[in-house]
Amino acid sequence: MDIYKNSYSITEKIKLLKKEGKSIGFVPTMGALHQGHISLIECSKRNNDITVVSIFVNPTQFNNPDDLQKYPRTFETDKEKLNLANCDILFYPSEKEIYPQNDSNISFDLGILDSIMEGKHRPGHFNGVATVVSKLFKIVLPDNAYFGQKDFQQLAVIKHINSEYLKNLNININACKIIREKDGLAMSSRNVLLSKEYRKNASMISEVIFESQKLSKKLSVGELKNWVISKFEQNSYLELEYFDIVNNITLEQVNHWNESNTKVACIAVYAGNIRLIDNIIY
Ligand code: AMP
Repeated sequence: MDIYKNSYSITEKIKLLKKEGKSIGFVPTMGALHQGHISLIECSKRNNDITVVSIFVNPTQFNNPDDLQKYPRTFETDKEKLNLANCDILFYPSEKEIYPQNDSNISFDLGILDSIMEGKHRPGHFNGVATVVSKLFKIVLPDNAYFGQKDFQQLAVIKHINSEYLKNLNININACKIIREKDGLAMSSRNVLLSKEYRKNASMISEVIFESQKLSKKLSVGELKNWVISKFEQNSYLELEYFDIVNNITLEQVNHWNESNTKVACIAVYAGNIRLIDNIIY
């Protein structure tokens, strides 16, 4: 695996590979890699000649400085995992490389995406995501980019900026399914930060959303939301931030089941001071 830290050098290398007719798949990450990330790499490897992974803990998407400071950084083990997964190229830029001092802030119009669920509870988060992804796309110039459905709203944001702001790059956005731990907890780099009791209790998040899918056949939207709220009120380790049911394409709130054919239920929960998200398609 080749490692690049410099944007200019990796862009030149990619241009060369493209001239040779090679297709480029790209998996952006913030490191602390787990099987969820590896599944995206496997998907890219199946469909492209060359797979590029980036590791960059993007400061502009953290609305909470404490969360940024605590975010796990495990570069040496990440490198081993990438070698095992047969990743071809790793892009590992410094903060200065992505955000030079004379760089101006970019502001994206994200429509409702910025004011609901993650957008509402993490002000500025998606603008930071859109900023870094557009910078990385312009550096890596992939044919295909791979993102997890675990971050369902982020995926919608990326599809939006790709079609509204980055059309000329001709990048296909590919969505990959959520990879879970044995007990159902969605894999996340933040899971390693959970102490034993919180980790044990965190499995309730997926249990509740799986059960909510079944109950959606019997209860009204309002009744189902109240059921979810009451489940978390009974657990002193977990604090529900939101549970919302939205149209899976527009992400508009669904208040009655007949408002949309396919719905997605999205949840955010605090386990102590660690924030976890998950979702399920109904
Ligand atoms: P992150 O490093 O958390 O920014 O995630 C990088 C990419 O991996 C994003 O596209 C995430 O949606 C994806 N990802 C994270 N966790 C999972 C998971 N459990 N299953 C599938 N994809 C995931």
